[in-house]
Amino acid sequence: MKITPLERWIAERIGHPAGGLDRRLLEGWQLERLRETLSLAANKSAFYGTQLAGFEAGSLSRITDMAGLPFTTAFDLRRNPLQFLCVSQDEINRVVTLPTSGTTGDPKRIYFTLEDRELTVDFFARGMSTFTGPGDRVLILFPGERQGSVGELLAESLGRLGAVGIANGPVKDPRTTLDLISRERVTTLVGAPVHALALARLGQTGDFAVRKALLTTDHVPGAITEELQSLWGCEVFNHYGMTEMGYGGGVECEAHFGYHMREADLFFEIIDPETGAPLEDGKPGEIVFTTLTRKGMPLIRYRTGDLGRFIPQRCPCGTVLKSLERVKLRLDGNVALGSGGALAMADLDEPLFALPAVLDFTAVLTREADRDCLQIEIKALEAGNGQLAQGARRALEAVPALQSAVREGGLRVLVEVFREGQFRPGAAGKRRIVDKRPTCGERL
Ligand SMILES: [Zn+2]
Repeated sequence: MKITPLERWIAERIGHPAGGLDRRLLEGWQLERLRETLSLAANKSAFYGTQLAGFEAGSLSRITDMAGLPFTTAFDLRRNPLQFLCVSQDEINRVVTLPTSGTTGDPKRIYFTLEDRELTVDFFARGMSTFTGPGDRVLILFPGERQGSVGELLAESLGRLGAVGIANGPVKDPRTTLDLISRERVTTLVGAPVHALALARLGQTGDFAVRKALLTTDHVPGAITEELQSLWGCEVFNHYGMTEMGYGGGVECEAHFGYHMREADLFFEIIDPETGAPLEDGKPGEIVFTTLTRKGMPLIRYRTGDLGRFIPQRCPCGTVLKSLERVKLRLDGNVALGSGGALAMADLDEPLFALPAVLDFTAVLTREADRDCLQIEIKALEAGNGQLAQGARRALEAVPALQSAVREGGLRVLVEVFREGQFRPGAAGKRRIVDKRPTCGERL
């Protein structure tokens, strides 16, 4: 088994290219970058000038001392993103505006300099080299038209590996994309899990050469990984990241043991979401990161809202890099059922994507007179399929949280099946359970 190429990359980045990377060397280097970042932020950014007033960056003597510093939240970013800038606006190369979910007010804006952009391309190139090399033809299912967009950065990084990036953008019409896959002899896909699933299921009888896929954006259900393997003989690698991290955060190696993290650019902590206290490796909590090398808009102890844990055991690939367990849940991703218990989209993904005709689905929770109602709309290969609706209901009834709620009369599950063209995807492309129940204490 090949060791993750991120280890060599990080060794080079911190000045130990001959190998022999260990945690002490890496953490010593991270400590120096943390001090630089704290000093830069406190002196140049209006937000951190206030937030870190009175704090001496030189007083940070261990990386664990970071636990004494305040967090940065998504709310802080929305309130006034320009206050985070550490350079003049002329030096900003790319601004990414992240839409709101409709209830959270202003959008988030993330700013990158040319130097920040280069760090992302460099990470993408090394991360992709886990399973991509010269001659590979990689279909990119992310937007890539705008300068500095994730698709454009990925295409550039693939060029550095001697591979060819082929732009498609998010899948709108799977058949058009399948034609492109065939015509361009695509070997590798990069995109969102539901898009890859739709391509594999609609293209299951075709002769395609796709053997590797990097899936990201959402939690990757095991059922989708297995289906890509069985229909196309395609090995799936998971990636974890968000725009705030500079898109890339971590990627699995051949052992598929969790993501190895971009530890030369990002310092990760897991905290107790209630108390904010740092948690040791192995304990689940909220993922928090601090940028180590970002120039335009450094972020200090940024709360991602994602839940995860570091796996205490070493990855079978033998790296000294940590392994972050696959992220399945967000802090705000659970909806409480009236009968007690909680439900997340990931709980519905596994049973529904395991059904062979399902391409995608939405989930909406409403309130009837005396019980909750979970409405599932399925996008399927065939329309009005009674058997599929029945199979989906049965599969959902086996989900523990739903099973008890239905048995106790606190929940009704409705399933409707639509053909591709008649299906309305979820709002803003986010796959989450939409809770339309009136909130407690709501007044007329
Ligand atoms: Zn590994």
